[in-house]
Amino acid sequence: MKTILIVEDNDKNMKLARDVLQAKGYATLEAVNGLDGVALALQHRPDLILMDIQLPDINGYEATSRIRADAGCAAIPIVAFTASVTVTDRQRITDAGFNGFLGKPIELQSFLATVRQQLGEAAR
Ligand SMILES: [Mg+2]
Repeated sequence: MKTILIVEDNDKNMKLARDVLQAKGYATLEAVNGLDGVALALQHRPDLILMDIQLPDINGYEATSRIRADAGCAAIPIVAFTASVTVTDRQRITDAGFNGFLGKPIELQSFLATVRQQLGEAAR
């Protein structure tokens, strides 16, 4: 079973992401702030990380940079999970080393398509 770490401080978004992923057979790990997200990533080395950008402590850019700095986590795909959709935001996300982008609110089809693509899974 593949494990996906969700770093998200909004209850509603967390619940929806968790429910959708678990319903599709993924195990989830959850953090509601950046530091816990970094700690869970380093401890568990999940298969994929969904990273909110605006978090109550360190932001998603900083958390991603700290995860990337760990040799064991450097190759884990990290997807920005954010409502920010401007071209500038997307460019910054790409420049920061994220592997992809997931919009909020969650749109089921594209959410799952992105997750599968990042995990290297075929559509099912
Ligand atoms: Mg947030």
